Amino acid sequence: MEYEKMLNRLYGSLPEKTTSKERFEIPRLDSRVQGKKTMVNNFSAVVKLIGREEKHVYKYFAKETASSLTIESGKLIMNGKFYPDMLGKLFDSYLKEFVYCHECGKPDTKIVDNQGIKMLKCTACGALSPLKKI
Ligand SMILES: [Zn+2]
Repeated sequence: MEYEKMLNRLYGSLPEKTTSKERFEIPRLDSRVQGKKTMVNNFSAVVKLIGREEKHVYKYFAKETASSLTIESGKLIMNGKFYPDMLGKLFDSYLKEFVYCHECGKPDTKIVDNQGIKMLKCTACGALSPLKKI
């Protein structure tokens, strides 16, 4: 118990970057605010890398930012100003929910359909976790 508390305190005081097992091979979104719009230049490339459908990530972003979006030759164009920090956090929360295994935290997952319910299937540990609807 005491030891656990100590660990918690230790990890709790470290900057987020060193404790998260996330974002090792996944590139950051390369975005830029242009006037009243925000362009994510490597959107399609990053989505391809994480093995998810563009439409799925797109829907998540649209819902979370309440913005209207378009995809144009691999770029995501968002209506409104969204700075890299904010988009990075948004993308991280997408990864956490829809890419990283809810059990072991590894990104070796795919989305499978289980009787109409979308589940996250981990190829590393075999866990199957239900996903939120976007
Ligand atoms: Zn797993």
